[in-house]
Amino acid sequence: MAKLSITRSPAKNRNLYSTLQWQKAVLQLGRAMASKLSLDAVFREFAAGIKGYIPYHRLLISRVNPQNRIQRIFILSQAANDALETSGDLYEKGQTVTEWVVRERKPFIREDTALVQEFETDERLSHMGFHSHITVPLIYWDRVVGSFHLASTEPKSYGERELAFLTSVAEWLAIAMENARFFQETHRLLEEQGVLHQVTSQINILDLDSLLQRLTKEVVNIFKADCAFVRLSGPDGLFQLRAVSGMKLPAYQGAILEGHGRSAWILENRKPLCIRDTRKQEASIPKGTGLDRMGFRSYLGVPIVPREKVIGTLIVVSKKVRDFTDRDIFFLQQLAAEAAIAIDHALLFEELKRLNGDLERVTQNKSQFLARLAHELRTPLGVITGILEMVNMGATGPLTDQLKSALGKIQSQCRALQKMANDVLNLSRIEAGTIPLEISTFTIDKILSSLKILTEDLQRRNSLKLVWEIEPNLPPLTTDAAKVDAILQNLIVNAFKYTLDGEVRIRMKNRPESRSIEFAVEDTGRGIGAEELPRIFDGFHQVQSTAASQGVGLGLTIIKKYLELIQGTIQVKSEAGKGSVFTVTLPYSLEA
Ligand code: ADP
Repeated sequence: MAKLSITRSPAKNRNLYSTLQWQKAVLQLGRAMASKLSLDAVFREFAAGIKGYIPYHRLLISRVNPQNRIQRIFILSQAANDALETSGDLYEKGQTVTEWVVRERKPFIREDTALVQEFETDERLSHMGFHSHITVPLIYWDRVVGSFHLASTEPKSYGERELAFLTSVAEWLAIAMENARFFQETHRLLEEQGVLHQVTSQINILDLDSLLQRLTKEVVNIFKADCAFVRLSGPDGLFQLRAVSGMKLPAYQGAILEGHGRSAWILENRKPLCIRDTRKQEASIPKGTGLDRMGFRSYLGVPIVPREKVIGTLIVVSKKVRDFTDRDIFFLQQLAAEAAIAIDHALLFEELKRLNGDLERVTQNKSQFLARLAHELRTPLGVITGILEMVNMGATGPLTDQLKSALGKIQSQCRALQKMANDVLNLSRIEAGTIPLEISTFTIDKILSSLKILTEDLQRRNSLKLVWEIEPNLPPLTTDAAKVDAILQNLIVNAFKYTLDGEVRIRMKNRPESRSIEFAVEDTGRGIGAEELPRIFDGFHQVQSTAASQGVGLGLTIIKKYLELIQGTIQVKSEAGKGSVFTVTLPYSLEA
């Protein structure tokens, strides 16, 4: 078998060796870059990874943004003052090598900037002492996503070999960049969903200031911005700063929106306002002197529109120039829409609180007036009834039957008026909390004898059948006897008042299981309709058809308040036309 001797020139061997080594290096670097989740980490890995193979003294990485504009996003340079003004600086003039490479989708090598200065880049680099440079496009699935650019202080640092190596690395870099971007976008999307959910779940926070504070805080976090704030129209129609997060805005505190600022623009145009760099903004957009003076460069603001009407603006600003994407705008709009509902609720609640305050004041005035009136009525009424009694007893001479009957009617009207005045006074005392509790231990007989006097009088005027069902041996009560008496008297008076014929039944039962006594007053009168039932305990409420009757509709209100004081309860069963049962339950003993 013929021997085959493989001989290669030393140079070729070195080439083969270095090619294999380079392939291994590219693979290792590619894997390392692909494992990084942030763009910055990817770039640092790239910068360190190529260092051992390709000489460079300057590295600049650019990307093509969603708006198809090229931005410088990463730089490492040994030259003084060679840094990005802001990450994301745009290429605008079309005269740099980066723009050429991205446009042509081809790499470019300059052997010596001292000899050829075709691009603006050549001039600048030569000025900084860099002689040669190479720029490689970053292509991902046929799409140019950016480029990187290396420069060296030596001439002719880059040739075919370097180009081959860097083109292979570029493929990996493009993938790693897109991965990192995709990861960040997904991460951001999840964060956005979380924030949206939080804001939505806080829609029920009715305190407007804490709600807006939370909202602006979330906006600062998610946009990684320096400051977010909300301006809202106040009751006077003027727009004021309502919440700020991130940096303080001393210039804005309490300031009222003038008609020509950026917020005013948003209010007027009812659409978002996005300014990439306030120093280079279009002339037609208003300047924000306050913000600009504080050094803010990028601005994004959206209107808050709860119901047709724009009631405010939600704004996010940053000191670094940044690109707010369409997604950012959309997200801020979504937040503003959620917040609008919450703000609307909160504003309505504030308004309601104010109205309630007004109502309380009006009610208080009314109660005070009524109490005064009742008080003033009681004295003359007392004098009139006193005189009437004396006249009735014959103190002024004998009376004819006609006169007696007339005086009787006047007396009964006076009693009704006195009851009314007493009810009003009692209620105002209960509301003021000045009704004292007088607790004693007494037997049911004491109550019964007082009720019997009342029912005899009532029966004289309205001869209804009266049935007593009193369980024997009822235990004594330890409570306020006068209040128990007043409660039962009121119920019995009502039963007689609203029953034309039939009967009134008064029941008293022991309820040992709940250590209480149950009192019921049942009648066969006109009853109360289902729709009226819930309202009969309201102050001054009278069922329409009974409004003409004596009373002002306070009896049941007072009963209910008394029962609250002595820990009792009341229930009503009633049907229009069939009669009513009022059942009161009182504990044996009032707990201290
Ligand atoms: P009033 O002074 O009008 O009697 P109340 O507070 O005692 O005021 O009662 C409120 C309303 O409830 C009355 O106007 C009446 O329409 C209704 N009501 C109370 N008790 C009865 C009853 N036993 N039968 C029918 N209606 C009643």
